[in-house]
Amino acid sequence: MSNPFFNEDHESIREMARDFANKTLAPIAAEVDKTEHFPLEVAKQMADLGFLGLKIPEEYGGLGLDMRSYVCVMEEIARKCATATLFISSANSLSTAPIVISGTPEQKEKYLPGVVAGEEFIAFGLTEPNAGSDAASLTTKAVKDGDDYILNGRKCFITMAPMANYTIVYAKTDPEKGAKGITCFMVDMSLPGVSCGKHEEKMGQRGVPVSDVVLEDVRVSKDCVIGEVDLGFINAMKTLSVGRVGVASMCLGMAAEAIELAVEHTKNRVQFGKPLCKHQAIAFMLADMETKLNAARGLVYNAAWLMDNGVKADKEASMAKYFAAEAAIDIINKSLQLHGGYGYSREYAIERLYRDIRVCSIYEGSSQVQQIVISGQMLK
Ligand SMILES: Cc1cc2nc3c(=O)[nH]c(=O)nc-3n(C[C@H](O)[C@H](O)[C@H](O)COP(=O)(O)OP(=O)(O)OC[C@H]3O[C@@H](n4cnc5c(N)ncnc54)[C@H](O)[C@@H]3O)c2cc1C
Repeated sequence: MSNPFFNEDHESIREMARDFANKTLAPIAAEVDKTEHFPLEVAKQMADLGFLGLKIPEEYGGLGLDMRSYVCVMEEIARKCATATLFISSANSLSTAPIVISGTPEQKEKYLPGVVAGEEFIAFGLTEPNAGSDAASLTTKAVKDGDDYILNGRKCFITMAPMANYTIVYAKTDPEKGAKGITCFMVDMSLPGVSCGKHEEKMGQRGVPVSDVVLEDVRVSKDCVIGEVDLGFINAMKTLSVGRVGVASMCLGMAAEAIELAVEHTKNRVQFGKPLCKHQAIAFMLADMETKLNAARGLVYNAAWLMDNGVKADKEASMAKYFAAEAAIDIINKSLQLHGGYGYSREYAIERLYRDIRVCSIYEGSSQVQQIVISGQMLK
């Protein structure tokens, strides 16, 4: 019986993503990791399949599909290449959700079609050197000057910044008001005063560049304000709720792949006169891994289903991200253990999965931040 959360359309887009991941991403994933370069023509192929516009409304070139379609695609793509999922998650959540949620029709027309087509990239700039988990303490400032704003500050760890055409920048327009004085701006990366800091040499998910975004007296027009002045933080939090389900889906895919690799390896590897999987301690480890993955699936699919049915699901998105990230880190660690010394070799895909998964409990709200969100909802 098929999964009750999904219908035939979901299953068919999942199949399409699985096929693409097997045929196009699996053969290049190791090289992408090694060279820290993801071929843009492959990103374009994903755009042509509709993966970069899954959730973007059709009038702006997207497929206008639901959250569960996005989950299916993210899961399948993550099995073979974590870097590739960043193109999909960026296009469907962090770089476009702020515009889809609160942009004007003109802004949607201007920014969305290029992203959907894989021709333009938008980075999401919230984090700063002294404002990570406590994002509302950011100090980047936007000061009104006639019809323009002048931006000054530094964002850090910004995914895709070095290749982005624009960065969405959250800046204080009324510093006295804390989180209620933050505005969302679309900043053209070619403007005078915008630069990227040094390239971050990352542990995993290495095919997409990450750097600081430095803003020195950057003049932007008021047309670049996304949503209402001073209400940008709400926009950021809504965006992150969607993003968290995306990261959680990525975790499901990577964990599923790790289990498949562990099953295959322990069936084939003979020690003490029989395949490793015939030792009950190892079979039980596999059982634990599979159980954890399916528990995570339940949380992720449920959060996506609620969102598709118009139910506010911030807590569910946080529970999904928290549990799926921690479960996937544990599952992948165990899979590597079951590979023994081979798991520590770069020749084996599990080694890359082990590095790629680690950031999933850190970015888009660490596990502890998810616990803050979940308990905050319980205790209000
Ligand atoms: C590869 C990568 C890509 C990223 N991409 C982006 C991007 O595109 N855009 C963007 O804006 N940001 C991005 N980030 C930033 C990311 O979102 C932050 O790293 C994350 O939010 C954590 O902030 P921090 O690193 O400052 O850690 P800190 O906030 O300093 O936290 C350090 C540790 O303390 C814990 N902690 C903090 N506060 C509490 C508390 N109150 N209670 C208990 N524990 C707590 C945290 O969970 C964490 O374990 C990226 C980060 C990485 C590594």
